[in-house]
Amino acid sequence: MFPGILTRMPHVFEPASSGRAKCRGCGRAIARGEVRFGERLPNPFAEGEMTLWFHPLCAAYKRPDAVLQALAESSAGVSDAEALERMARAMSAFRRLPRIDGAERAPSGRAKCRSCQQPIERGAWRIRLVFFEEGRFVPGGYVHLDCRGNHFEGHFVLAPVLHFSSDLSDEERAEIARLCGSEASRTSEAQSKD
Ligand SMILES: [Zn+2]
Ligand SMILES: [Zn+2]
Repeated sequence: MFPGILTRMPHVFEPASSGRAKCRGCGRAIARGEVRFGERLPNPFAEGEMTLWFHPLCAAYKRPDAVLQALAESSAGVSDAEALERMARAMSAFRRLPRIDGAERAPSGRAKCRSCQQPIERGAWRIRLVFFEEGRFVPGGYVHLDCRGNHFEGHFVLAPVLHFSSDLSDEERAEIARLCGSEASRTSEAQSKD
């Protein structure tokens, strides 16, 4: 049916041969010599395959299943393979988590929250979502930071939210951590009462 799948190149961890490639996960450069993760996919637009390059941790957050597959084959050269695997397993456990693309204050009040369907008021914290389609990430709307408990069903979102929010100031990041921290403890209290 799909003979190409049988001969597909495996995903790979390897040192970046140049500093030109950008990470698909965070959009930042991958430094020359730094270990990068390559996800191999059938090219949706042409014959053959394509490789998407990521920082390993960015891939663990956004493409966890591919990372787990690669680690199962070989973790040679990956310096923190155990931590990477732990993170990929956590993200892989719930299908919406890999959509997290960071947080920002809403620049206008036009977008609606995908969780509660209410407008996200200007200046409120919102989580950006992306969907992976045909080999690329496409913008998938927003949820209120306050709606993360519903949208992500109580899964802890702080690590990926902060990871993909590198343009925020330290104060803003601390504020997000504080806002998420209070709910994280409430969530675990609620769960332990069940
Ligand atoms: Zn990255
Ligand atoms: Zn909401």
